Amino acid sequence: NSGPGKKPDWLKIKLASGSSFASTRQLLNKHSLHTVCRSAMCPNLHECWSKGTATFLLLGNVCTRACRFCAVATGQRPALPDAAEPAKIAEAVKTMKLRHAVLTSVNRDDLPDGGAAHWVETIQAIRAVNPGVSLECLIPDFSGNERALDLVMAEAPEVLNHNIETVPSLYSKVRPQASYELSLSIIERAKRKFRLATKSGMMVGMGETPEEVEASLGDLRRHGCDMVTIGQYLQPTAAHLPVERYVTPEEFERYRAIALDAGFRHVRSGPFVRSSYHAEAFEPVEEIS
Ligand code: SF4
Ligand code: SF4
Repeated sequence: NSGPGKKPDWLKIKLASGSSFASTRQLLNKHSLHTVCRSAMCPNLHECWSKGTATFLLLGNVCTRACRFCAVATGQRPALPDAAEPAKIAEAVKTMKLRHAVLTSVNRDDLPDGGAAHWVETIQAIRAVNPGVSLECLIPDFSGNERALDLVMAEAPEVLNHNIETVPSLYSKVRPQASYELSLSIIERAKRKFRLATKSGMMVGMGETPEEVEASLGDLRRHGCDMVTIGQYLQPTAAHLPVERYVTPEEFERYRAIALDAGFRHVRSGPFVRSSYHAEAFEPVEEIS
C-alpha cells in the first residue's frame, strides 16, 4: 500500500474563532475535567469548543484498552475513579448551559463493574442540577457485563450511543480487544430491553470496502439502531494505524443515502463527522424500530 497521499483540501481544518473557546477551555481546566475532544485529539475541537460544546470523558483519561486508531493513553492500572467527578461534570454542564450533554468514558477493564456505578452517579448528578437536560451516553462495551450495561441503560439516557467503529473484517487490526457481535448486541439490548433511542458510528478510510460499510449499516439497523455517524479516520499520531484512503465527500454522500435508505432516522456522514459531532442535532427518538 502506497498510503493515502497528501491530505485533500476537504480535510483542511478551519479554525473557528467563536468567543466561547477560551471560556470552555477555562472551565474544563478549572474543574480538571477530561474531554474526549482533547484526549482523542479530535479535529473538531476548535469548532465545538468555540460553540461551547464538549464531550466529557468519564473515569479518567487512561484506558485499559489500546485501539489502534485512538489517541487516548493506555495503561493497565489507571487511577481510581475521582469520586468528585460526577458533581464537577454536573456543574460544568450547568455553567456551559448545555441542553444536550454528551458523556463518554474510557474502558475500565480493571474495575469489577467497568465503571458502571460511576456512570450512573454522573448521570444522576447532571440531572439533579440541570432539569430538562438531555443526555447522550456513548458507552464502552463493559466487556459484555450485562449487569453493568443494565445499570447504565436503566438510567434511560435520551440517546444510548455505542460505536461499532469499523467493519468486522478490520476488527483484529483496529479494535483487537473488542467484538463486533458484542457491540451489535449492546445496541440491540438498549433498543429491545430498554426501548432507548440508539445511535452508533463508524470511521471509514481504514481499508473497508463500500460493500462492507453497507453491510454494517444493515447489521446496525437489524439490531435496532436509529441513528448513525460516518466519518473519515485520521491518524492521530505516527504510532497509530495509518490512513488507508481519504474517502471523498461524494462517497460520504452516497453512504448517507444508503443509510437513509436502510431506515436510519438520523444520519451524519462526512469527512469531519465524529460520534459526538453536532450531537445536539440528533434529537432523541423513541420506539421507531
Ligand atoms: Fe469534542 Fe465531539 Fe466536538 Fe470532537 S466532535 S470536539 S469529540 S464534541
Ligand atoms: Fe480509545 Fe475507547 Fe479504544 Fe479506549 S476503548 S482505546 S478510549 S476507543
